[in-house]
Amino acid sequence: MIPGGVSRDQLYTDPPFFASHGEGAYLVDVGGVGRVDFVNNYTSLIHGHAHPQTVEAIARQAARGTAYGAPSELERQLARMIVDRLSGSEMVRFTNSGTEATMLALQIARSATRRKRIAKFEGGYHGSHELVRVSIKPEDGGPRSRPQPVAEEGAEGFDLTDVLPFDDLTAVEAIARQHGEQWAAVLVEPMQGSAGMMPARQGLLEKLRELADRHGFMLVLDEVMTFRHGGHGLQGEWNIRPDLTTLGKIIGGGLPVGAVAGPEKLMDSLAPPKPHRIQHSGTFNGNPLTMAAGLATMAAYDEQTARDLDARGDRLRSRLQETLAQFGLSVTGWGSMMNVHAAPTPPQCWRDVRASDSGRMHRIQSGLMDRGFFLAPRGMLVLSTAHTEEHLDQLEEALAAVAEQTAPSVA
Ligand code: PMP
Repeated sequence: MIPGGVSRDQLYTDPPFFASHGEGAYLVDVGGVGRVDFVNNYTSLIHGHAHPQTVEAIARQAARGTAYGAPSELERQLARMIVDRLSGSEMVRFTNSGTEATMLALQIARSATRRKRIAKFEGGYHGSHELVRVSIKPEDGGPRSRPQPVAEEGAEGFDLTDVLPFDDLTAVEAIARQHGEQWAAVLVEPMQGSAGMMPARQGLLEKLRELADRHGFMLVLDEVMTFRHGGHGLQGEWNIRPDLTTLGKIIGGGLPVGAVAGPEKLMDSLAPPKPHRIQHSGTFNGNPLTMAAGLATMAAYDEQTARDLDARGDRLRSRLQETLAQFGLSVTGWGSMMNVHAAPTPPQCWRDVRASDSGRMHRIQSGLMDRGFFLAPRGMLVLSTAHTEEHLDQLEEALAAVAEQTAPSVA
């Protein structure tokens, strides 16, 4: 009854894998097998599964109603938490997903600039609406320094979307010189997540800020995944000043969420009852259940906790790099999020990932499933505060064993 057996494409696996329940650092499948979960619903579970404070907040709120058809105090509280953590942001509009957040941010940028076109990076993932379903994981994107827009099946967005190379600052500047005056916005992840956890090259985001000012487009920083870092996003860690920020994942405490944050002068274009404003609705936007879960979750993820988790991630990543290099693997990422690649040198953009041995990566992932560890098939692994040092040690040991088994000379 469900196409492919899944409600989101990336969860399709052969053989299929069905979850029964989650407990802290573990995800238990329908056969009763528990595995240490390093997927964490693709970065959205910062405390693992069923964190007691979050469960309590959800239960308490459920008893008070799950949706009101009226704004609630909880929205104000979660907006305050976000504004406090993102310097440069003064207002927040909630959505139900990161997809809706990037869709809305681009609308705000289009309205502010009175321009239609946008630009995104090859390999960048910003959700499933048409303008951004372009060159996510293209097989052939044309010349490396002049990537051609490749629309996903069924998307027409490429007519209005230009595509930039993530690892080539000079080319980005040249393309912006040519087309930047037509762009309403450049949308960018500070670390490309879905493509394989590759942080932007040093200088790229600063250059985009400069180009945005020069050519009059908005810099929209997609921190749907990376807001976790330092407790205030990579913009805080790297001192980047976007015009708008898109959020999602952890701020909903495990429930569906997205948000756009920005300065009042831009965000106010959403405020009724002004004329010529942007219309934006959604039956479940800012629903009290998500807000309560987000507040409880984020209260337990203060700056110190975020820094500790990132430091643990940094240590794990450098240990894995050292252990896995002899088996022809590399590891990319930042803080608590990383990706193992079946490539001897760390990829810097989607084209490098595409050139890696994805078949081997899948064998490694399924070998780890057999040993009790759940990683994304593309090699992504994400820490939560529920992981213990023992979990990380065990993972390193298991990864080394599977890496050896799948090494090209042995396999
Ligand atoms: N932007 C980024 C950077 C993402 O990683 C994702 C989801 N993985 C999205 C947007 C879309 O968010 P959602 O899946 O909640 O629509």
